[in-house]
Amino acid sequence: MIDLEKNATTTRLSRRRLLLSGLAATSLGHPFLRLNAQPASRELFTLGVASGVPGSDGFVLWTRLAPEPLQGGGMGDAPVDLRWEVADDEGFRRVVAKGTAIATAEFAHSVHVEVRGLSPGRWYWYRFTAGGARSPAGRTRTAPAENDESSQPLRFAFASCQHYEQGYFAAYRDMAAQPLDFVVHLGDYIYESSHKARQVRRHEGGIPTQLAQFRDRYALYKADAQLQAAHAAFPWLVTWDDHEVANDYTNDVSTRTADPAQFLAIRAAAYQAWYEHMPVPAGMRPRGADATIYGRHRFGRMLDLLLTDGRQYRSHHVCLTGRSASPLADCPDRLAPERSLFGAQQEAWLARELAAPPARWTVVAQPTLLAEADRKRGPEHGYWMDGWDGYAAARARLLDALAEHKARGGNALVASGDVHAFWAADLRQGDAQQGPLVATEFVGGAITSEGPSAASVANMLAKNPQLRYGRADRRGYALATLDARGCSVEFRAVEDEKTADSPVGTMARFSVERGAPGVHLESS
Ligand code: FE
Ligand code: CA
Repeated sequence: MIDLEKNATTTRLSRRRLLLSGLAATSLGHPFLRLNAQPASRELFTLGVASGVPGSDGFVLWTRLAPEPLQGGGMGDAPVDLRWEVADDEGFRRVVAKGTAIATAEFAHSVHVEVRGLSPGRWYWYRFTAGGARSPAGRTRTAPAENDESSQPLRFAFASCQHYEQGYFAAYRDMAAQPLDFVVHLGDYIYESSHKARQVRRHEGGIPTQLAQFRDRYALYKADAQLQAAHAAFPWLVTWDDHEVANDYTNDVSTRTADPAQFLAIRAAAYQAWYEHMPVPAGMRPRGADATIYGRHRFGRMLDLLLTDGRQYRSHHVCLTGRSASPLADCPDRLAPERSLFGAQQEAWLARELAAPPARWTVVAQPTLLAEADRKRGPEHGYWMDGWDGYAAARARLLDALAEHKARGGNALVASGDVHAFWAADLRQGDAQQGPLVATEFVGGAITSEGPSAASVANMLAKNPQLRYGRADRRGYALATLDARGCSVEFRAVEDEKTADSPVGTMARFSVERGAPGVHLESS
């Protein structure tokens, strides 16, 4: 055990602290800034700080020590003591909780501190100290008490799909300035592969398959100052989609790796690197290639957020003629009842949650467009097999559960990502166009990843009346506000994601009434 602070002499320490505290405040945009060649004096908190999984009495605090973020972290093999403190004021005059966490090489010198014993529904500030260096401060918030009946509105953002090469994270700068209670990330936090067209910056290295490579990829993304700002401003709830591991993978199958055992080794490395970089509790730590990350998150009586995992337990693709899930296809296999996107166990859990006495609102946070979407031009039908249309029976079961939920007084919203477009959709039980309305879906665009053409969006809108609004020419994210009477959703659009300081504005605003699901377009 090395305690960097205890090993340093007082004089060196105080000089270093002075230098580093100034650096910590200004170096967010310059993760590679170094003061001098002395290892202990280098910036340690290059990846910022984060908090997540807010409960009514606490949250998870995260950071990772990484003086050489793109070369394995640069921390060596020794464990390091890291002090953390939580205050109920921005100036840290009233520290209400503190402790020490041990950052080890096994988890790339990341820490996941589970703070408990705090008060519900209020802001806190936190920071870390290690080796005489102090991290930037983060702000976070506890959830309201579980039995809190207050009609205080709840506000959150949801986002997905942030290809580093395809744009800057201006959307996150905008998000960080919003009055939010929390943020939900729906996956594609990193991309494993490159997209050659219209790059504004580049991945280092090729497609990761080893733990060290996944770590460096996360570090590249997390060194981004605008992403760090959104993490430092609110607690996040995160799930993953495919690109955290490999494009369009399903369970143990990836088009890129023929042998499932070999692919599971890649998945294990990818899941571990995900854990090391996310503000999630030790309970979500992978065991080999398995990690349980789905679950319910309660925000008083206002909201039950049901966060799902759409990749780990999926049935393999069907109806494909080639190896890719992208070309449109159709065949009876896609309707097979045994096919599942969540897997039997997670499906059963979700059905149980939806059958329980409802909060005012229920948000099912899940990776990809749930609404049926015939994407083929002309009179023929064609579906994207990596989406819910490849798992039609499982979708019908989910819509049945949502119908039962509504019958019990529940009000369900579905928050989705993955498809690099903004969509608002009416979700009906049974027939997608004629059945009874049971829930309302919003797909919150992509932070940077490029989307389908205007022609393909227009075609989807024309063929699928349940899709009430669609745009794919802008990147961005969604803001949702829930209160006792209704819900409002804003689509925030980045003017030009190829510019780091691009303006961001509201492109469309929707409302959903409690007790009456369905999309109402308020303005666009
Ligand atoms: Fe994506
Ligand atoms: Ca995806």
